Amino acid sequence: MSTLKVICTNRGRHPRARLGPITVDGGGSDVRPRFERGRRHPGVTARTGRGQAVYETRCPRCGRNPRIPEGDLFRITVEYKAAGRDTLDISHLPY
Ligand SMILES: [Zn+2]
Repeated sequence: MSTLKVICTNRGRHPRARLGPITVDGGGSDVRPRFERGRRHPGVTARTGRGQAVYETRCPRCGRNPRIPEGDLFRITVEYKAAGRDTLDISHLPY
């Protein structure tokens, strides 16, 4: 198990805001990301709509709130893990 830190910098326009980690279970194509929720990480919530779950994040500094479909989050997590990256800046996501 490892974790991917979730932050926002509003594309470099404000200092790092920590939104909470994604816990990553498994490896290879079997990676399973989970957002930790709760009071410690108020910037990250997950909700299930119809069909696939959508993970919502909200930056407390700039209000940016990308909604990341579960399938995309899996893909991003696999790519980041493979590349040895440990930090996801939500302001660089295309949402
Ligand atoms: Zn921000």
